Amino acid sequence: MEVASHIQEIRTRAAAARHVGRSIGFVPTMGALHAGHTSLIDASRKDGRFTVVSIFVNPTQFAPGEDFAGYPRTTEADLNICREHGVDLVFTPSADELYPPGDQTRVRVGPLAETLCGPFRPGHFEGVCTVVARLFHIVQPDVAYFGQKDAQQAVIIRRMVRDLCMPLTIDVRPIVREPDGLAMSSRNAYLSPDERRQAAGVYAALCAGRDLIRAGERRAGKIVTEMRRVLARAGPCTVDYLSVVDPETLTDKTEATAPVMLAAAVRIGKTRLIDNLIVNEG
Ligand code: AMP
Repeated sequence: MEVASHIQEIRTRAAAARHVGRSIGFVPTMGALHAGHTSLIDASRKDGRFTVVSIFVNPTQFAPGEDFAGYPRTTEADLNICREHGVDLVFTPSADELYPPGDQTRVRVGPLAETLCGPFRPGHFEGVCTVVARLFHIVQPDVAYFGQKDAQQAVIIRRMVRDLCMPLTIDVRPIVREPDGLAMSSRNAYLSPDERRQAAGVYAALCAGRDLIRAGERRAGKIVTEMRRVLARAGPCTVDYLSVVDPETLTDKTEATAPVMLAAAVRIGKTRLIDNLIVNEG
């Protein structure tokens, strides 16, 4: 496994792999790697691709007052995990490498960034798309792997790739969960033991919504009320949103006809958790 911090090294290594006929699979991350990340790495490897992982805590996707400074940075452990999972090349750029002095160009996102997390995280998706576009131009992957965990991000990146004619495929993989259903996340490390127990309530709430739909309920209002009830039973928290949305447009649905996405963003203590469930039946 090679590790490089400079754009030119990554270009050279990726070009060499391409030259010998390898397809390039890319997994962009912010590090603090867990089984959600390794599921994406494993997918790329299983697809037979020369697998590139980036580890970069991207400053432009954190809104003022968010956890940029405190975000877990565990590079040595991350590199070991990459090695164990057969990654070929790891990109660990500095902020100056990706945002050179004088940098002023950004990818502006449309209405897809105005729903769900958008209003709560101003500038977030612009920061995500800007860094992902730069990374795509550096690595030039054939396929980039993303997690359904960040459902809005996946939809927005798919749209960016289409709208900006980027020559690659986006492969979105299922959410990896802890045994009690909590979606794996680097931010779960912030949770105290009590908060960690409570956090399982987010998935329980989504499952309750799904079960209502399966039982024939179609009124989104009723489904949201039930999800809120189950979440509140787990303990006190602040709900940014608990929504019934269209999985493609991310707009609210008043009628929960399939396919539908149940989406949650919840603050437990200081930790903001997101999760979602797609319901295809009903
Ligand atoms: P992050 O390091 O949080 O930026 O995440 C990097 C990639 O891993 C993104 O595509 C995420 O959607 C994905 N990811 C994070 N957590 C999970 C999870 N629990 N299951 C599947 N993919 C995940």
